[in-house]
Amino acid sequence: MKTLLRLQELDLRIETCKARESEIPKQKEKFLVQKERFEAELAEREEAIKRLQLAQRECEGDIEQKQAQVAKYDEQLFAVKKNEEYQALLHEIDLLKKQIGTQEERIISLMVELDDAKARFEEDQKRVKAEIEALDKQCAEVDAELSEAVKDRAALEEKREPLLEQVEPGLLSKYRRIRANKTTGPAVVPLRGEICSGCNMNVRPQIVNEVLAGEIRACSQCGRLLYDRETLSKHEQNAGTSA
Ligand SMILES: [Zn+2]
Repeated sequence: MKTLLRLQELDLRIETCKARESEIPKQKEKFLVQKERFEAELAEREEAIKRLQLAQRECEGDIEQKQAQVAKYDEQLFAVKKNEEYQALLHEIDLLKKQIGTQEERIISLMVELDDAKARFEEDQKRVKAEIEALDKQCAEVDAELSEAVKDRAALEEKREPLLEQVEPGLLSKYRRIRANKTTGPAVVPLRGEICSGCNMNVRPQIVNEVLAGEIRACSQCGRLLYDRETLSKHEQNAGTSA
C-alpha cells in the first residue's frame, strides 16, 4: 500500500507535468498570433507608402503627357489659318494648363501625406521591433519551460518504473482501473474519520472497520481505494514491508 501511494504521488506529479506540457504550447501560440498581428500592421503601413508613391508617379506621368500635348498645340497655333481654330486651340491649351495645375497641387499634398506616412512607418517600425523582440524572448522562455517540463516528467517516469513491479499485481490493476475512469486526481485516498476524502461521503461502518484493520477496500460511492493513515504507519512499523 505504501508503495502504491508513492506510485500515486509520482503519477499525480506526472499528470501535472503533462498538463503543463499541453498548456505551454497554447501560450506560445498566443505570442505567435500577436507577432503576426504586429508584422501585418507594419506591412499595412508600408503598403500605404507604396500606394502614395504610386499615386505620385501617376500624377507626374499625367503632367508630362499633358505638357507634351500643350507643346504640340503650341506648335499647331502657328499653322492654323482660321481664327475659330486658333481660339479652339487656345481654349484646349488653357484647359490642359489648368489640369496640370490641379495635378501639381495634388502632388504637393501627396508629398505631405507621404512624409507623414514615412514618419509614422519609422515610428511603428521601432515600436514593433521592440514588441517583436519582447515576444521572441517570451517564446524562448516558453520553449525553455516546455523542455523543463518534459525533462521533469522523464525523471518522474524513470522513478515510477521500478515501483510498478513492487506493487502487488491485483492492487495495481485495481489502481489502474480507477485511474482510467477518473482521469485526474488521486485513486487512493485516506479515510477522514468515517468519511472518504475523495468524494466527502460517509463510508459504511463495516468498510471503515475493514480499512482500519488494514484491508484494502473501495469507497462504495466513488470507487476510490481507501486507507487509514494511522493503520498504515502501524503496519509499516510492525511488518516493515509494503504492499
Ligand atoms: Zn469516495
